[in-house]
Amino acid sequence: MEFHIERAKVLPKANLHSFISGLKKWGKLIAPVRKGEKFVFTHVEKPEEVELNYTRTILPPKKFLVPYRRERFSYSVEDLSFKTNFKAENQVIFGIHSCDLHGISILDSIYLKENPDPRYLEVRKRTVLIGVSCVPDEFCFCLATATAFPEGASWDLFLTDIGADYFVSIGSPKGDEIVYSQRSLFRDIEKEDLNAYKATTLKKKSLFKPEQLPDLERISHVVELEYDSEVWQEEAKRCLGCGTCTNVCPTCFCYTSVDVPNIAGTEVKRIEFTTSCQYPYYSLVAGGHYFKATRADRFKHRYYHKLVGYPYQVEMLGCVGCGRCSAECPASISMVETIKRLRGCNEKELREVTE
Ligand code: SF4
Ligand code: SF4
Repeated sequence: MEFHIERAKVLPKANLHSFISGLKKWGKLIAPVRKGEKFVFTHVEKPEEVELNYTRTILPPKKFLVPYRRERFSYSVEDLSFKTNFKAENQVIFGIHSCDLHGISILDSIYLKENPDPRYLEVRKRTVLIGVSCVPDEFCFCLATATAFPEGASWDLFLTDIGADYFVSIGSPKGDEIVYSQRSLFRDIEKEDLNAYKATTLKKKSLFKPEQLPDLERISHVVELEYDSEVWQEEAKRCLGCGTCTNVCPTCFCYTSVDVPNIAGTEVKRIEFTTSCQYPYYSLVAGGHYFKATRADRFKHRYYHKLVGYPYQVEMLGCVGCGRCSAECPASISMVETIKRLRGCNEKELREVTE
């Protein structure tokens, strides 16, 4: 029997709420909702709560794959027996932008490529990812990181806004199943739909101003060459070391753990929680040595890991250009500007060498 997956369908916007309601059949529904002036991914019950007209959420949907605080296990102090309370449930994360889908693909590589983390695998298998197209603001630079469009990431469905309808690309057998289960809401693609879909690519590209896009050509090499650049010291002078940039990042995954005893001292929980390379204790090892002793060391480490470490580790940049770190930094430090300064410095040095 020939196995055929439909590549795309059209969902009239008038059917969006019915479609969202139907998604609850596939798991707990998570989607972006408005929170004051900002947006957050959260559990939703009603389709009217979902807000698709957003640029970025405060935190990426990563928090539903790798919670910021999680219990690894607990053990009895008396007999040293171990227990785990881990339980993954089916979930549908709806309304994810392309950059965050790529962020999840990077996490997939981190957690699943070598020595797969069984918990991440279990959560991932139970998660449906549905993306939606977006409009960039001044902090976005996903066009430079090649993550402005969902191709290359792993997802089940992707909705592109083409005016009165959504052009729904189908990215997996699960996505195909979801569309088929609500097939009365969809119609087949017509030539005008395809033309409108193609036009959205050009339109999105045209919305980026040249100055908001860093040149990332051979960036790993540039950052390595600029290891001793004064740019790190200068930028780090403004840095508060607050860790916001890593906490909001869709690709950061560092965590630490602490053992928390109950009040009777009979049972201990091993709690893992997200940490930041921007905190001094992050690089503290036994004997009291700090591998990243100064703020400039820690500041540089983040860029170095994103732009040199990840490509080495997972063959992708560790930045998807979502702009969260720049938009949320209380010191207004911009990833794009730092990269530009490094690039400029590097070009100047290269000119000096070649002249
Ligand atoms: S968010 Fe800004 S101030 Fe805070 S650690 Fe990151 S770069 Fe420094
Ligand atoms: S480094 Fe900044 S712009 Fe890049 S993915 Fe992380 S938060 Fe987004």
